Amino acid sequence: MKAWENNIRKVVPYVPGEQPKLDKMIKLNTNENPYPPAPGVFDALKGFDADRLRLYPDPVVDKLNTAIAQYYGVGADQVFSGVGSDDVIAMIFMTFFNSDKPILFPDITYSFYDVWADMLKIPYEQNPLDDEFKLVKADYYKANGGVIFPNPNAPTGELLELSEIRDIIEHNQDVIVVIDEAYIDFGGVSALSLINEYDNLIVTQTFSKSRSLAGSRVGFALGNRELIADLNRIKFSFNPYNLDRLAIRAAAAAMRDDAYFQKTRQQIIETREFAVAEMEKMGFEILPSKANFVFARSEKIGGEELYLELKRRGILVRHFSQKAICEFNRITIGTLSEMQTLIG
Ligand code: PMP
Repeated sequence: MKAWENNIRKVVPYVPGEQPKLDKMIKLNTNENPYPPAPGVFDALKGFDADRLRLYPDPVVDKLNTAIAQYYGVGADQVFSGVGSDDVIAMIFMTFFNSDKPILFPDITYSFYDVWADMLKIPYEQNPLDDEFKLVKADYYKANGGVIFPNPNAPTGELLELSEIRDIIEHNQDVIVVIDEAYIDFGGVSALSLINEYDNLIVTQTFSKSRSLAGSRVGFALGNRELIADLNRIKFSFNPYNLDRLAIRAAAAAMRDDAYFQKTRQQIIETREFAVAEMEKMGFEILPSKANFVFARSEKIGGEELYLELKRRGILVRHFSQKAICEFNRITIGTLSEMQTLIG
């Protein structure tokens, strides 16, 4: 072994869902939106002058942050944008999770949190979900170095009410609390209304799910302006030009088209309710979901067996081998016709 090998940072990386080469596959494995981006996004990209790619993009992402701020009724200096919420959350870990005390998140949750914590050498504790796969809020009242969880949680789809989020924040006034709202637009109530009330709260959202722009990689955080300034200091110490010109343009156009956003998210909610009812008739147990996916298991067929059988039939869903959830599959809500094919 070479001496320098001791100095290599070792991590067990996050494993993204498969991106199959076959277009014929029905792809229900990475919670993408089955509908195209808003019409305004097509126009914005068609009108893009490729000559502009000669120049660096705007490092303060003013146009996009302003579009997000206007939509949510906050100041542009309360918005921080990044390359998907993955980038935004990684920046949050770097900026705010620097305590000797462990940060807290659920044991069954977005499987990137422990990867970032390991990589950045941040101590962490994973609180178990209860028997119904719900987050136990009292587990987040102990001393800690920060709190993060998705709402709705992934891969369960379970939502916490705003009053429960408020309780968790109230019990964590000495640390930063991050609510990862990647899936909030599919039936949950956002904690955004609390960012001016609690100066230790950060809410993250993404354009990847409800705004049909997973391929563009844009996410954002909202919080009070001091926290956003803290995040910018780290971004400017790491990768100042994080978002490219095309992504900024596409995302700003998507944010401006509220009618399309409302229509498509409503369609996904309706399709989810249809799929849940049909799958329950087939004997599936489905956790109550307010996301654009459902987490389902059946006594008739094992989790991995179902995953493989669906794949054989050209339908890709997400299976996790973690013991507590290996009988489940996470199934993204596609179009009505895709869900009809799934149900068979
Ligand atoms: N949070 C959760 C809970 C997710 O499931 C995902 C999607 N993998 C993300 C954040 C990151 O999404 P993106 O980087 O596409 O915004």
